[in-house]
Amino acid sequence: RLQQRIHGTTLEINLNALTHNFNFYKRQLKPETKMMVMVKAFAYGGGAAEIANHLQTMGADYLAVAFSDEGVSLRKQGIRLPILVLNPVEESFDLLREYQLEPVVFSPEFFKKLGSYAQNHDLQLSIHLDLDTGMHRLGFEQSHLDELKDLIVTFPELKIASLYTHLVGADEEEHEEFSRFQLREFMEMKTKIEAILPYKPLVHALNSAGIVRYPEFQLDMVRLGIGLYGVEVTGKYDAALKPVSTLKTSISQVKTLAPGATVGYSRKGQLPEGGKIATLAIGYADGYDRRFSQGKGYVLIQGQKAPVIGNVCMDMVMVDVSGIEARAGDEAVIYGEGISLKELADRIGTIPYELLTNISARVKRVYY
Ligand code: PLP
Repeated sequence: RLQQRIHGTTLEINLNALTHNFNFYKRQLKPETKMMVMVKAFAYGGGAAEIANHLQTMGADYLAVAFSDEGVSLRKQGIRLPILVLNPVEESFDLLREYQLEPVVFSPEFFKKLGSYAQNHDLQLSIHLDLDTGMHRLGFEQSHLDELKDLIVTFPELKIASLYTHLVGADEEEHEEFSRFQLREFMEMKTKIEAILPYKPLVHALNSAGIVRYPEFQLDMVRLGIGLYGVEVTGKYDAALKPVSTLKTSISQVKTLAPGATVGYSRKGQLPEGGKIATLAIGYADGYDRRFSQGKGYVLIQGQKAPVIGNVCMDMVMVDVSGIEARAGDEAVIYGEGISLKELADRIGTIPYELLTNISARVKRVYY
C-alpha cells in the first residue's frame, strides 16, 4: 500500500494463480514427462528469483533463461534447479562453469569452442543441443549432422543432457502443417544423433501452445512459458488459467475539461463535449506502451472502462472518466482481472509476451 502511494504503480503477482496454472499444465502431461519453465526476461516480467523459488517448491524439473547473467543471478539468489541458458557466448564460459549453468550449443563452431574449453580445464559439462527445424534463428541443421557426429566423438567432455527444437507457430492453427513438419524433422534428426550417443539425452519440443495442441509430442520434457503466467495463447483453455499479474496504478488528479480543450502532448486528446479526465501515475517509462495513445487503450476504474485520451506521457497517462465516480488516490487497473492481456495486445498490434516483459524495473513487484 505504501509503495503504491509512493510510486503509484505496482505489479501484483498472484502466486496461487501461478500454482494453479502450473498444475493445469502438469495435468496435461504424462506422469513421467518433465517440466522445464522459462524464467527468462525476469520471468516474463514477474520477477525471476521469486518465481523460480516458487517453482522450485512446486516441483519444476528445469528452468531456462536466455542469457548467462540471468542464470548467475538466479544462482546468487539460492536457486538450485538445473538451469538451461538459451543464448550463451564464449565470454561466459567461466561463469557457466562456476555457477553450474547448462548452455545450449547451437552450431559446430560453438561445440568446438566449448569442447576445447572443457578439455583444457579438465571438465565435464552438461549441454543442450538446439536443432533448427524451421525457426532459422539458432540451431543445428540437417547439413551439420555429420560434423556434429565427429565433434561428439572428439569432445566426450560435453555431455548432451538434451536435444530440442522450437515450433515457430504452435499457437496458430494456420501453421499446424508446418508444426507437424517441424516435429517430423526433429524426430528424424534426434534419431540420427541418438544413434551415435552411448547414453540417452532428454528430448523436448513443446512450448505452452504446443502442450495444448500436440500432446502426442510431449516426449521427455516440455518447456512452459506464457501459460504459466496465465495467458493461454491458443484460446482453447482460456477459462482454465488464472491471470497471474495485475498491473495497477492510481489517479493523481481529476480535471474537468471544457469543450474544445485539448489533452497532453501535441494536443492529440480532446473531448468535443467537454467532460472529466483522470491523470494516472503510469507512463511509457513504466512499460505502459505509447501505442495505447488516443483511445487505443483503456483502463478499469471502479470496474468501468476509461479510454486513454491523448498521448501516453513518460510517467503519466490521461483517461476519460466522464460518467465515472473517480477521485484522486483511486485505483486504476491497467491489466489483470477484468482486462485480458490478449485483447489489449491485439489493440496495438502486439502480443501478450511484449506487454508482460516491458514492465520496467522501477515498477515494484508485490507477491501475495
Ligand atoms: N522454448 C523456447 C526455446 C523459447 O524461446 C520459449 C519462449 O520464447 C519457450 C520455449 C516458451 O514459449 P511460450 O512462452 O510460448 O510457452
